[in-house]
Amino acid sequence: MVNFNMPDAAGHLPFYYGSISRADAEEFLKLAGMMDGLFLLRQCLRTLGGYVLSVVFNLQFYHYPVERQLNSTYAIFGGKSHCGPAELCEYYSKDTDGLCCVLRRPCNRPCGVECKAGVFDHIRDNMMREYVRRAWNLDGDALEQAIISQAPQVEKLIATTAHEQMAWYHGNISRSEAERKLYSGAQPDGKFLIRKRKEAEYALSIVYGKTVYHYKIDFDKSGRYAIPDGTKFDTLWQLVEYLKLKPDGVITVLREACPNGSASAGKSEDFVTSICTFFSSSCVALPSLPKVRESTGNFDGYTPEPFFEKARILPMDTSVYDSPYSDPEEIKDRKVFLKREMLMIDEVDLGAGNFGSVKKGVYKMKRRQIDVAIKILKLQDDNEKLRKEELMKEAEIMHQLDNPYIVRMIGVCEAECLMLVMEIASAGPLNKFLSAKKDEVPISNIAELMHQVSLGMKYLEEHNFVHRDLAARNVLLVNQHYAKISDFGLSKALAVNDNYYTAKAGGKWPLKWYAPECIQYHKFSSRSDVWSFGVTMWEAFSYGQKPYKKLKGTQVIEFIEKKERLACPAQCPKEMYELMLDCWIYKMDDRPNFENVENRMRLYYYSVADKTEDPTPSSSKEKTV
Ligand code: AMP
Repeated sequence: MVNFNMPDAAGHLPFYYGSISRADAEEFLKLAGMMDGLFLLRQCLRTLGGYVLSVVFNLQFYHYPVERQLNSTYAIFGGKSHCGPAELCEYYSKDTDGLCCVLRRPCNRPCGVECKAGVFDHIRDNMMREYVRRAWNLDGDALEQAIISQAPQVEKLIATTAHEQMAWYHGNISRSEAERKLYSGAQPDGKFLIRKRKEAEYALSIVYGKTVYHYKIDFDKSGRYAIPDGTKFDTLWQLVEYLKLKPDGVITVLREACPNGSASAGKSEDFVTSICTFFSSSCVALPSLPKVRESTGNFDGYTPEPFFEKARILPMDTSVYDSPYSDPEEIKDRKVFLKREMLMIDEVDLGAGNFGSVKKGVYKMKRRQIDVAIKILKLQDDNEKLRKEELMKEAEIMHQLDNPYIVRMIGVCEAECLMLVMEIASAGPLNKFLSAKKDEVPISNIAELMHQVSLGMKYLEEHNFVHRDLAARNVLLVNQHYAKISDFGLSKALAVNDNYYTAKAGGKWPLKWYAPECIQYHKFSSRSDVWSFGVTMWEAFSYGQKPYKKLKGTQVIEFIEKKERLACPAQCPKEMYELMLDCWIYKMDDRPNFENVENRMRLYYYSVADKTEDPTPSSSKEKTV
């Protein structure tokens, strides 16, 4: 099982306590001596990804909420933004800037005190696994990859809909029905339920002194839940958890949930049963499932129901996440050579390459029709035989690959000309997409796409293939959030015990993407693909610029030999440029492999992944380098 834990941006800090209450924070500060400027950090119970900074001054406690903002920076309300909680604390250790005093001394966790996981942290990973398995009907590698590549989105989805499955959530019931439920049986103080009043408006009904009190819960423009004039929360379940600790203007703290006896709509009993067994000790159950992808669905025409306010199509919702041959009925009849009458070729050109044109088409399978891209070999010159052989070699490689982040081959068709039929990635090459949509694509989106490319490359590394032509032009997009590696024209399968392939002769090579050993010794390995990955990253983070613009291919090697490297693109985060520099380590054995690259891409991507979609135009973003 893959560990896909979301890193907590403060998880590594010795003065971070995780999900502890304000009272516990004050106890720790008392134990540590109450000197001025003593401080600790804890998880905020109100916001997803937020913190609270607790500080001592003049023997008093001050608690400052630190919010994670839309652009993934952190700030104390009204204060300056910082790229992480550590940087924020460092800043306030030099400047009070509105705080009661400067931070002088961290109140580190005493020996044996671990960071306390929050309600959601406890169950998140297993919940996510079950959720993805059920919602998208995935298993095995496809399931693992779906979780790894989409964890931040799925987590948000679960977090914002989790209340629907809570014992205390009663859905759309009237005020009198709520009272009837609360008055039935024992009526201890703090017995409560949440009900839906109308779209995006809820109510809390609570017993105190044998009387039921009702509080309206608004969902404001910023997308937060609050009892009027009360504290605001990202999710309903956080509001409930908070009110269990503090009344916050409500007549009493929440205690016992008035249980909702009936199962909520949309959840399947066995699913709920299995999860309840899993998390029997927890008060949190699973949210209802999003609409499951239709097996015959076509991504272009398929509009999924919104999962949450700013819904977007996840890779698993598209028709090209799983191979069309993952259907047992289709695999039975799978043949490399396709029947011409099953293939319809459109006039629409998707692009052109060395071989000829790539056209859009439709392929009729046994149980469904799928949109495809068809690489059509030009009918031409004396080289035709050689080109046919080359296209067949490309087909032979692609036939062996099956990964959601690699363009799959459907088959080959020999008719009026030789044709390679592939999955379609209709949003086109990454470099063109990024240069055209510079203002619509935030850096986190680029990290997401490059993380997917690293997943595809890790798959190639694990299966002993070298790509040899990884570049942004060969990363095709299914949509803005889903990338696939394409163009296997130069690729090789390595023998079981070989780490590299030696090309007998040079060729029309993409020198600007090649590692020194490729050019000097014609030696190609996954580590030389890592070098190309670094250049591809550079292209992506510079929004489709051409690398080494002022140099000819042959001059690039001299540039590299002089220990020079491509400069950090204007808006590229420092972690990403550091990874590029590691991909360009001269000695191939000292470079990271794709397992390592994928891990670093993942950590970075999770740390910036849009908890809420980031609409900030890239050009107006804060520069981080
Ligand atoms: P290639 O010959 O593989 O470099 O492809 C040439 C161009 O055709 C690419 O840059 C894309 O614009 C387009 N193309 C190739 N394969 C596909 C595909 N599977 N889906 C959509 N467009 C493609």
